[in-house]
Amino acid sequence: MIKKILVLVFISLQVACSASHDLIQVAESDRPLFGKIKFWEIEQLSDQLYAFRYTFYRNIILIGSDGIIVTDPLTPEAAAILNDELKKISDKPIKYVAYSHSHWDHVSGGQVFKDQGASFVAHEQCLQNWLENPSKNVVKPDQVFANEYRIDVGDSALEMYYFGPSHDNCRVVFLTQPDRYIFIADDANPPNGMNMIYGAGLADTYLFNLVSFFKEAESLARKKRARGVIGSHMSFEKEPMNLVAGTVGSTRVIKQQRKFYELVIKEVQRAMDQGVSPDLIPEHLIKKGVLRDKIIGFDEQKMKVLYRRITNYLVTGE
Ligand SMILES: [Zn+2]
Repeated sequence: MIKKILVLVFISLQVACSASHDLIQVAESDRPLFGKIKFWEIEQLSDQLYAFRYTFYRNIILIGSDGIIVTDPLTPEAAAILNDELKKISDKPIKYVAYSHSHWDHVSGGQVFKDQGASFVAHEQCLQNWLENPSKNVVKPDQVFANEYRIDVGDSALEMYYFGPSHDNCRVVFLTQPDRYIFIADDANPPNGMNMIYGAGLADTYLFNLVSFFKEAESLARKKRARGVIGSHMSFEKEPMNLVAGTVGSTRVIKQQRKFYELVIKEVQRAMDQGVSPDLIPEHLIKKGVLRDKIIGFDEQKMKVLYRRITNYLVTGE
């Protein structure tokens, strides 16, 4: 019974927390994704800030007195829907498209905004990636930067910060102004950073700098008094597959995400120190049930890939 009460208290606390971000749904698809969750939806966080979820993916949109900044267009289909919906929300021109990183699953489909004269902004290394490995669906940036960049559209602005390689070699941290929300593509998805991560086996995850990346992001959040984090992916709430559509939450999720990586790296290191052969480490950690209770949505196959990736990093430094 006490357990039940505690669970209820916890749930009401969570509801209260998410309510404090005042999300208003302004549009949604008629088509279901699964259960009650629709294929896409648009939420409003303030007069200047909107979030668009399309399937499991999300981007943010800033509407200022001088125009609109769209971030990651996601796919041609998603971008077309977002474009139609933005026309209903505002008559301001779409002036900029800002890219969070270089992965095609987040940055495809920008042509519909290019056709309206939008200027595209990305970190310089993203452009390099797209020159080496182009996709016909990715519009190349008109403007690139090295460390920091700020796009202003009157009373609203998007700040972009590069803290070195992380999830790929050009991911940046977005900070919205004046609302002060942070967005970090693919990681730090509220409500909880201890979720099973997306893309556990990605070849271009720079493990050697990941922890430092999140420490920089944590320090940015403190310095800029960030109000919260908008997740770039739909995430789990406590139970595996108990998916929550609205993913705006506390900046604590950045620290949790750092802890997640610190923890998995520590467990692989421990197995190596105990003399387990590198080849056998993934199987060994799964068999021992390591982190099974700590990671929400723990997925054996994904964890094996992640452990293998971390083992390689600890052996080679890459
Ligand atoms: Zn990615």
